[in-house]
Parts: sequence; structure tokens; C-alpha cells
Amino acid sequence: MQAAPLPVLDRPDTSPAGLRWRNRYAALGPAFHTRLAAQALPQPHWVAVSGSTARLLGWPSDWAERPDWRALEVLSGGADWAGSEPLATVYSGHQFGVWAGQLGDGRALLLGEIDTPDGPMELQLKGGGRTPYSRMGDGRAVLRSSIREFLCSEAMHFLGIPTTRALAVVGSPLPVRRETIETAAVVTRVAPSFVRFGHFEHFAHHGLPAELRALADFVIEHHYPACRDAANPYAALLEAVARRTAALMADWQAVGFCHGVMNTDNLSILGLTIDYGPFGFLDGFDPGHVCNHSDHQGRYAYARQPGVAFWNLHALAQAMLPLIAMGDEVTEATGELALAAIEPYKAVFADAMATRLRSKLGLATARDDDGALADDWLKLMAAERADHTITWRRLAQWSPAEPQAVRDLFLDRPAFDAWAGRYAQRLAAEGRVEAERRLQMDRANPKYVLRNHLCENAIRAAQGGDFGETQRLLKVLERPFDEQPEHSAYAEFPPGWAQTLEVSCSS
Ligand code: AMP
Ligand code: MG
Repeated sequence: MQAAPLPVLDRPDTSPAGLRWRNRYAALGPAFHTRLAAQALPQPHWVAVSGSTARLLGWPSDWAERPDWRALEVLSGGADWAGSEPLATVYSGHQFGVWAGQLGDGRALLLGEIDTPDGPMELQLKGGGRTPYSRMGDGRAVLRSSIREFLCSEAMHFLGIPTTRALAVVGSPLPVRRETIETAAVVTRVAPSFVRFGHFEHFAHHGLPAELRALADFVIEHHYPACRDAANPYAALLEAVARRTAALMADWQAVGFCHGVMNTDNLSILGLTIDYGPFGFLDGFDPGHVCNHSDHQGRYAYARQPGVAFWNLHALAQAMLPLIAMGDEVTEATGELALAAIEPYKAVFADAMATRLRSKLGLATARDDDGALADDWLKLMAAERADHTITWRRLAQWSPAEPQAVRDLFLDRPAFDAWAGRYAQRLAAEGRVEAERRLQMDRANPKYVLRNHLCENAIRAAQGGDFGETQRLLKVLERPFDEQPEHSAYAEFPPGWAQTLEVSCSS
């Protein structure tokens, strides 16, 4: 079956910034979004800029300062680039396992889509003011959460984990009320698409089958073209999303990343990490760790993330049933097709996780008992709350002759020695050059991750008007696998006060 052709607005290049706009989501029509302008932040100033994301867009290095670009004005919501068609999209979703009805971009504004050397990319302001989907919210984002999103988006990218990118943070003295009074900021996000599982749920739950189909055709056409020629393109799309989501979960688990709010409206149809709110990287390894202070039930605890993603895929599958029926009634057989489409999630996740654990352990070959070796190592780490990043990183330095660096991290030395004996045997069986194993491990076990306290230091400095620490931290996080001895302070154990940091949904 051919997916229906979709209208494309190909506009002349009239933007002062020399950008070529495509705006294909805008062309889907008013059922999908509301066109509106951002509300300007007063007295905007630059807080941070990602050179890497600007390069991804193919922009000149001085883009932020060029008078003809008016970038500060535009990215604080005070002006529009010609060719941009700002809009807020509508979606719905399940929050904390419960159907939440209509949500939508309550504080995000899609400026449009531009051509880049890497293909079309959407630019989105987060915190640009109220929209028809703001519900009780003020449409704003605070400086604290904007810096967190900016740094983590970029950190994840450099860890090799699929994510939306961040181009810049703009700050303003505008007061914003959260638990206390803070100041407003806007982060500019960049991604090929910001479509979420919740966009599909929206049209399914509101009885809009034509729009549901148009959305699916849009996603297939632009982002999953290989599904077009499948016998059932919609089942193929669902399976492709399941596979990408599985790989993403393995990436998160391997690096100790907790998202914090894995509601269906926060899961990307492209398998990107999206919507950085109360996220956190594990310090001490605790599978039950809950990073979101608002998550009282621990629904989104670290170890539960892969299961939750599968739950979310069931919600997506449910929404896609009318599509998978291909114009016929939805029957039990349709349900079976949908379940079959997401079933590969389990095997893909298990394989991806096993592959990542082998790399983290420095194994070049696969053996049946590798799973047990990895599991027992994780149990050992969990029993002592061993620091996730430091312990994995130090394991590369371990050898039977020089076990101290990592052995010293454990109180239960006999337990460590017993496991290390098995590890030694396993490595000996590979007969590999030590330096090769260490290289593999140092590429799989980052030295630098965005720990909460590092982020907090950057935020506190920024709140005092010093943005240097945000930019410095960004530079360090751009090379997470390199030793960077001059920055080793960023790789140390978290200070005691890190445990008192709380992050919640309020941002
Ligand atoms: P989140 O849990 O941050 O993904 O947000 C859930 C929903 O609430 C989304 O529809 C957001 O757009 C909306 N939302 C969150 N914060 C605000 C805010 N300050 N103003 C308006 N809408 C918001
Ligand atoms: Mg969200």
C-alpha cells in the first residue's frame, strides 16, 4: 500500500537568517495544531549556546551575534524569522498510568522546520508563553529547568544516545512562580520531529480516524519510509517504533539515566529522549532509585523504565488499532497483529542490553554465562550502592595483579574477590591484549555524566548571573569518554549535599 501523499509547503527563501523553511507539520492542518505567536520575554539575554547543535544546523559560528539574524529576539519569542509558522501542537496521553485526556504543547512553540545538512529539522521554543493547551500552566519555563534540559540534551547526544538537541537558552528577569519565585527562560530545542506517542492517542481517543491516519502517513512518509511498502504499513510503523524504543531503553539503563516522567506524552515516536524534567543520573547504584520527587509510587524508578516503555507501547498499539485494521472493523485479529508488532521489543531490548553490558565489561565475544556475570556484578554494586559511573569506569583499570582501584570501592571484599575471580577467568578465556579491552571499556563507560550536583552548581552560578559554569560543563560533557585530567573534579564522587537535591515535575 502507498501512504497517501501529503501536502508540502515549499516557501521561497525570504528569511533574513537565510533559512529555508519547510514547515511540513504546519501543512497537516488545524486539527493538529493552533497557529500563534510566542509571548516575548522582557530584557532577554543569552545564557548558553551549543556550538555543536548550531553546526548540525549548518549555521555560521557567529549566528547568535549577527545583527541580521536577530537571534536573541527570535529565540526569546519577541520576533519571527520570515518563513517560520509558529504553532502549538495538540496531543493527549497517559500520565502515571492514567488517561489524562487532552494535553498538548502548553509551553512549547514549534517555530517551523528548516533544511539542514542533516535533513529537515524542527525548531521549537520551550517556555515561550501560554498556548490553547496550557490548561492551568503559565506557559513559562524557569532558568533552572531550562539549563537542566539544555545540558542534558547535549550530554545525551555526546554519550551517543538518541535525543532531541538543544541550541540555546535565553534568560530574562521575568518572575515566574514555582515553589518559590524564579526567573523565566526559553530553551530552543531541535529534532527531526517532536511527535509523541500521545499525538496518536489524541486522535484515536477523540474519534478522529482521518486525522489519525494523516498523522501516521506523515510519520511514515517523513521518518519511517521503509514502512511504506510493508503489507501493513501501520503495523510495520508500530514495530519500528517498538524496536527504536527498546534500543533507547538499553541506552538509558546502560548509562544509569532515569527519565523521571515516562508518560506517553513524553515518549518520542522517533525513539529520542525527549522532555527533560526531573531526570537524573544514578550516583550510587540503586535499581529502585526514583529521581522524580513527585513520583510517590515509584512508577518510573530506574529499574522499571524498560517495563514502562513496553506499557507505553501498548498504549500506542491501542491507539493504532483502527490503522492496523486497514479500513476494516477492529477485531481480535487486529489486536493480535498489534501485539505481534510490539512483541519484538522484549528481544530487542534484551539483546541490546546484553550487547551494552558486554562492552561495559570489555568482552569481545559472547558466551552463554555472560548474562550471569553481568547480573552478579550489578547485584554486587547494588548491595553496596557503589557509584554507578565511577565503579564501571574503574573496572577498566582492574587486573588480577592490580585489583585495588575498583576493589577499594567495596566493603564486602570476599564478595568482590569471588566475582573478580570469575571475571578474570572470563577475560583469560578471550586472551585479548589488555590495552584493547581497556579501550573498549573506556568507550562504553563514560567518565563524565551530568550528575545532579554538577548541574546544580551551573544553575546556582547562572542564577547569580555567571553563565561560565554552564558553558564549561557543556564542554566537559561533549567528551564524556575522554580522560580530561584537567577536569577530573567533575568526575569525582558526589558531595554529601547532592543527596539533599530534589527534582520534581515543577519546572
Ligand atoms: P510534562 O509533564 O512536563 O511533560 O508536561 C505535561 C503537560 O503539561 C504538557 O502538555 C505540557 O505542555 C504542560 N505543561 C507543563 N508545564 C507547563 C507550564 N508551565 N505551562 C503550561 N503548560 C505546561
Ligand atoms: Mg512533556
